[in-house]
Amino acid sequence: MSSGKAKSGGSSGRGRLAVEMAPAHPEQTGETTPALAGLGWEYAPAPESRDIVSIQPQYGLFVAGEFRPAADGRTFATINPATEEPQAQVAMASMADVDAAVAAARSAYEQVWGPMPGSERAKYLYRIARQLQERAREFAVLESLDNGKPIRESRDVDIPLAAAHFFYYAGWADKLEYAGFGPRPRPLGVAGQVIPWNFPLLMAAWKLAPALAAGNTCVLKPAETTPLTALLLAEVCQQAGLPPGVVNVLTGAGDTGAEVVSHPGVNKVAFTGSTEVGKQIARAVAGTDKKLTLELGGKAANIVFDDAPIEQAVEGIVNGIFFNQGHVCCAGSRLLVQESVADAVVERLQRRLATLRLGDPLDKNTDIGAINSPQQLAKIAELTKAGEAEGAHRWSPACQLPDRGYWFPPTVFTGVSQSHRIAREEIFGPVLSVLTFRTPDEAVVKANNTPYGLSAGIWTDKGSRILSLAQQLRAGVVWANTYNRFDPASPFGGYKESGYGREGGRHGLAAYLNV
Ligand code: NDP
Repeated sequence: MSSGKAKSGGSSGRGRLAVEMAPAHPEQTGETTPALAGLGWEYAPAPESRDIVSIQPQYGLFVAGEFRPAADGRTFATINPATEEPQAQVAMASMADVDAAVAAARSAYEQVWGPMPGSERAKYLYRIARQLQERAREFAVLESLDNGKPIRESRDVDIPLAAAHFFYYAGWADKLEYAGFGPRPRPLGVAGQVIPWNFPLLMAAWKLAPALAAGNTCVLKPAETTPLTALLLAEVCQQAGLPPGVVNVLTGAGDTGAEVVSHPGVNKVAFTGSTEVGKQIARAVAGTDKKLTLELGGKAANIVFDDAPIEQAVEGIVNGIFFNQGHVCCAGSRLLVQESVADAVVERLQRRLATLRLGDPLDKNTDIGAINSPQQLAKIAELTKAGEAEGAHRWSPACQLPDRGYWFPPTVFTGVSQSHRIAREEIFGPVLSVLTFRTPDEAVVKANNTPYGLSAGIWTDKGSRILSLAQQLRAGVVWANTYNRFDPASPFGGYKESGYGREGGRHGLAAYLNV
């Protein structure tokens, strides 16, 4: 990356925590913990080269196996959130393009992909999976450039998991009759899939792999701020010889997504994103025979008991909320900690946060990258201000943010009560709200006191307590003594306003079969 334009005083020239605060950035208001500031040593820069990626000045839509400009010629810019530099112009799909993509998907479904034996479909999925592995570094760098996430995460989490999803569902393609859905489960037809910006390639894999394995064809709409890896995946589909029209990628804005989901030629809608848009989509497909799965927001409780191994729990708390800058629907954004250990946990957490490194997403030492967009940054800033105004105590490690790009320091609120907005609303940023409890029953009541129900974490030494609590928590995923662990074989999805349907595992196939 040409920039790394941190205004840091360190030799690496990158933003980092545990240094003297500079007043330049509006969010640099963190409270210094004197014992942690000025540790007096610094990592050498370890930048991943961006040479492996060749970003084109213009990208077209991927329709019927070919890249083409939008019918009306409109484009939009995709920005590197760490530097604010425009990276490329990307085609903005309109209704005419949605029509063309759905028609291509329909024809591919009826003539090629639907009738094709599962064992043949599997070969294409295996090929895509292998290509993802072979081009993993290229994908990882591109993902970090477009999304702002640290290369360590795109390299070690997003891309390997995306490949794993294709491998996993390739294995199901010729075994659908043994999946427990009856002797001849049938695909649904054309799937319209709309995905968010927080895990751009991984969400594309979560949507495409089960749909294709089950015999459907796809029209995928990536998020406006992160279109590039979906377009590279389209290139991989070409490379894998996928028949034209089986996968179509329409870049564009929210309107494009709305047109995809309400198109009469679409049989199945799959959406990941905000609860608000999820509700709009549910209304748009109500009364049609479209099958719908929604994976929406969350406000997960990460519950730490007094018998938990505290150092391990602190790592889990950090991973739970600061992984991917907190842009994670299942993030452990509410820490529920037993009162007797609350001070010790918060103190250790603050120490740990002071060692995290914020800055250039392409630096292999970076823990916290850029916020994906100015809109998301504004939302985080607004909610954290509300937290202070409502009386919670705000803390961030001493922190120097780069002077260009969109950044937010890791932030911890203590003294949070359940009525505070920061305890109720999805912030989708590196912001943790700490609440306390005394008994397991109180922990359950507080954990479930949310309109969401996507995930939860439990930290305790007692297996029986884990089993008992997991049954009482209204959350689709409950992690025990770990957090944010994903596997393609494991179903993922929510209750209540976190949506319905499951992705991953055998359950993920059901969403794409007529069962
Ligand atoms: P959105 O829900 O608006 O976006 C998700 C996807 O839906 C994007 O591809 C978006 O396109 C598209 N979209 C937007 N409006 C419509 C519509 N009416 N019909 C169909 N598709 C549509 O999320 P945002 O990016 O605006 O983020 C807002 C908030 O949502 C975040 O602050 C966070 O709280 C939450 N969120 C939750 C996610 C999750 O995984 N649960 C993921 C992302 C966000 P486009 O990008 O072009 O707007």
